[in-house]
Amino acid sequence: MSSFSKIIVSKFGGSSMADAVAMKRSAEIVKKQNSAVVVVSATYGTTNLLVAAAEKADKGKSEQLEPIFKEIRENHNKIAADLNADAFLLEELKKIYKEMDTVARQIAAVRQAEGENVEEAEDIDPDLIDPEKQPKRSLEPDEKLSTGEIPRLKDTFFGLGERMSSLLFTRCLQIIGVPASTFDVAKVMRTDDRFSRAVPVFDAIEPLAQKYLYPLISGDNAKTIVTQGFIGATESGVRTTLGRGGSDYSAAILAWALNAAELEIWTDVGGVATTDPRITPNTKPIRELSFQEAAELATFGAKILHPSTLIPAIWKEIPVYVGSSIHPDDGGTRIYRTVGEAPLIRALTIRRNQSLLTITTPDMLNTYGFLYRVFKLFNDYKVSVDSITTSEISVAMTVDDVTLNNTELLEALGKLGQLQIEKSFDQVSIIGNNINHTAGLAQKVFQELSDINVRMIGQGASKHNFCLLVDEGNGEEALKRLHKILIEKEVQL
Ligand code: ADP
Ligand code: ASP
Ligand code: MG
Repeated sequence: MSSFSKIIVSKFGGSSMADAVAMKRSAEIVKKQNSAVVVVSATYGTTNLLVAAAEKADKGKSEQLEPIFKEIRENHNKIAADLNADAFLLEELKKIYKEMDTVARQIAAVRQAEGENVEEAEDIDPDLIDPEKQPKRSLEPDEKLSTGEIPRLKDTFFGLGERMSSLLFTRCLQIIGVPASTFDVAKVMRTDDRFSRAVPVFDAIEPLAQKYLYPLISGDNAKTIVTQGFIGATESGVRTTLGRGGSDYSAAILAWALNAAELEIWTDVGGVATTDPRITPNTKPIRELSFQEAAELATFGAKILHPSTLIPAIWKEIPVYVGSSIHPDDGGTRIYRTVGEAPLIRALTIRRNQSLLTITTPDMLNTYGFLYRVFKLFNDYKVSVDSITTSEISVAMTVDDVTLNNTELLEALGKLGQLQIEKSFDQVSIIGNNINHTAGLAQKVFQELSDINVRMIGQGASKHNFCLLVDEGNGEEALKRLHKILIEKEVQL
């Protein structure tokens, strides 16, 4: 094949990789679109199984790992058999199964050693070091493991799903006649070492992608490259992951680094709808979205796109298409810079597991610098705050519930004033245009939710967003009611 006339990066999520049938459907899309780069998620459910196994290992329960591993092996072997996998592919899968077993047992061994107060944990299995396949410093043969190593072992472990699915999907493309090869994304997806939520190092990724990836999709020997979403690697080659759902973000980053003409996100629904169809069956499809609207939707909880997906696309104005790999011809959502229509209410989202931190202190009264000190702490601890409100003597901020595990941050905040921590809220957001200039919206919303306690509202900072914090468990009900009046009935304001 000669080089691709334009670079299309296509991402397929877990349900698009669920089994050989789903893979073949997805492969036909790649063929039709002539995608240069394909970014895949792990097969459906695999990352959840790996997370469950890591939890067992982390509790030192190595004897409970095998049933999970068996399920993972059987799922992948079945797809491999359905795709008539050759000996090479089967061998590659076996190596990954072995790595899965070894890494999990290493995690468990560290925990068991800790529990028994044994000073030295197991040595690393030198078999894991395959210079061809492994990034440089995944594991050193003579290194002793300590609990501090667990996060990095876990990230290597979590990324195994994508490494397996990318091998299988390459095979799938080949059998329908698309020249394809698998590429280890760790070579280009440079990140920092915040394991499980690693941050991409864009300055490094662009030249790496141009050096290692671009030549494979250009020139006379160009092939479709199948690579892994979700996975990254640090400068020293230690594998990382970008956070759950991160494959969308991976695809957007690669599209950006390769100056792609288009980014396609193929999933299990026919594009972005007015809310999550799992919450209400009455959603409407959205055919066009502006970058800004889509970014707000993703940030405020629409799981269909990882929250950071739009950022690299916006930098280079790369149009994004979101469509269904199950019904690819039904049309999806096009996302680009400006769209013809900018309705007041576009969609509704829900973000779960939110906590509210309130700091109260008379020091805030008529002084400056207090908010600086608060946000400096969030900056130092690299924790993001989603919504804030302030009064004369207090500031309230929403954060993800996991932030409550950060005891150092909480202690430091507690030194700035009296810290109140409230857990388990849902944040419901109304996404649209000129929302902050629309008299009457808040009244309609509160009228509809008169029997639901709204703990905090966020409005005004963005013209695209109005959000409400309600008790966990009330979020879906609030969202359904608001969807009914604002979208199904298109209430007049
Ligand atoms: P993938 O595995 O392809 O990445 P995800 O499960 O991460 O798929 O994302 C697709 C899901 O996102 C849909 O099945 C749907 O339940 C959910 N979703 C949330 N908000 C929306 C929305 N506004 N429009 C469409 N789907 C949404
Ligand atoms: N497989 C990863 C997850 O389940 C990444 C992704 O699917 O986007 O979170
Ligand atoms: Mg996803």
